[in-house]
Amino acid sequence: MAVPFRRTSKTRKNKRRTHLKLTVPGMVACPDCGEQKLSHRVCKACGSYKGKEVVNK
Ligand SMILES: [Zn+2]
Repeated sequence: MAVPFRRTSKTRKNKRRTHLKLTVPGMVACPDCGEQKLSHRVCKACGSYKGKEVVNK
């Protein structure tokens, strides 16, 4: 089995992992209450979507 000739340095390892990062999924401010919510989803704070359409609360 092939084995690495040299140990991967901390710098090289960290450079490779710059692409591995958490991304926040499409958060936008709710137009009704200003709370941060997921886009194309009903607002969790005030239950509104596209102006009205209140779920509860
Ligand atoms: Zn809202």
